[in-house]
Amino acid sequence: MKDFITTNGYDMPPSEFRKFGHQLIDWIADYMENIEKYPVLSMAEPGEIKTKLPPSPPEKGEPFNNIFEDVEKIILPGITHWNHPKFMAYFNSTSSGPGILGELLSAAFNVNGMIWQTSPAATELEHVVLDWLRQMLNLPEDFWGIIYDTASISTLHAIAAAKTEAEDKYKENFEVSKLCVYFSEHAHSSVEKAARFLGVKNIRKIPVDEDFRMIPDKLEEAVNNDFGKKLIPFCVIATVGTTSTTSIDPVEEISTICNSKNIWLHVDAAYGGTAAIVPEMRYILNGCENAGSFVVNPHKWLFTPIDLSAFYIKKPDLLKKTFSLVHEYLKTEKDNAVVNYMDYGIQLGRRFRALKLWFIIRYFGKEGLANIIREHIRISNKFAELIEAHPGFEKMAPNPFALVCFRAKMPDKTQQEINKLNETLLHAINATGKSFLSHTKLNGDYVLRLSVNGIHTQERHMLETWELIKHTLETILKEQI
Ligand SMILES: *Cc1c(COP(=O)(O)O)cnc(C)c1O
Repeated sequence: MKDFITTNGYDMPPSEFRKFGHQLIDWIADYMENIEKYPVLSMAEPGEIKTKLPPSPPEKGEPFNNIFEDVEKIILPGITHWNHPKFMAYFNSTSSGPGILGELLSAAFNVNGMIWQTSPAATELEHVVLDWLRQMLNLPEDFWGIIYDTASISTLHAIAAAKTEAEDKYKENFEVSKLCVYFSEHAHSSVEKAARFLGVKNIRKIPVDEDFRMIPDKLEEAVNNDFGKKLIPFCVIATVGTTSTTSIDPVEEISTICNSKNIWLHVDAAYGGTAAIVPEMRYILNGCENAGSFVVNPHKWLFTPIDLSAFYIKKPDLLKKTFSLVHEYLKTEKDNAVVNYMDYGIQLGRRFRALKLWFIIRYFGKEGLANIIREHIRISNKFAELIEAHPGFEKMAPNPFALVCFRAKMPDKTQQEINKLNETLLHAINATGKSFLSHTKLNGDYVLRLSVNGIHTQERHMLETWELIKHTLETILKEQI
């Protein structure tokens, strides 16, 4: 025993932790400073990383240096660099200096915030930070907040609460098989997954208008139709900033329908919500004050290391009713005076996620965060102007946030040929490793997406990507002749 026990019990000795900790922080600082030198999209082939790793664990401990050498040699080539300023695919969740430090400290404390007593600061900071975020988004005071890992899980909890409410309301007439849920064809896949998981069979996908927004009249029609069949319309999910195009469902009109028919409205603003911190963008959340629940992801566009999803609900007691199940060994004498977050969701153990968000909000301030988001919107608007001014390209959807949907134009060609060209264009751009874009399909058209929401992305990165797009297209067209 003696030769491996240290002043830190059986853990790494403090002197070693200090030494390698400093080295690691230096490495991270260099990494961030030089991130543009890496290919943004990992060029690894399927299975390539795995074959470089030993198939069985080491019998004896290894020096930290050896582990870290392998990070550089084996792991790094398999990393797609989300913090790269030209990561413009999907929605670019980036971390940030204060976010990384908050995450590090949270791992050091390693508290489990399952109940108030297991770390009062974890529970109370979560409460305060989510209320700060609520104020930054100008949402009403009766929005009670809780942190889950992802928007998918937040939405699952929203629909579960709505189901419990329906059960209370319909009493003996309640049957899971009668439940009907409504969302647009452009809602995120997590919505349908959650509905399926909860056993909701009647899934109604409401058509969208030419700008990919849910059509309220069609929603009302579907709801009335289901009421007519003695079914139970219980939940509508509206999206502020859809994943394909960032379209904004008309929440105000949808909420009027929901309120008049007593149906739960959940708003999915996972990506778009944080834009409301910018005063001139606040309009995007109009009507959200009427929703029963709301989700926004600081890990998407608020520079928070993944994961952290902020969920707000007006009737937290419904969550408690759905999920609370307290065993004797978790009861404390303070239970009546405190919030035990384990009562409000499926999980018991909870990471101290609020710490990193607290670091971020304090470090940048509301104004600082608004300035970064505003700049992202300005850069993407400029990209949209470049697309529209160029005869070889066209914009394919409105761009209310910081995402532009576009494609290369080809007069006199079939949809299939144009799709093929744009697919080839996307793969050729991404294969350069210089920029990373993604795609979607809109009415059968293959469409490229360029998203500006990484904290390191500046105007020049968009301009360099624009040059790359034009150049790559020229090369492809030349080869085709
Ligand atoms: C990204 C996204 C989600 C899923 O977010 P996760 O946190 O990864 O579950 C849900 N809805 C919308 C609108 C999104 O953009």
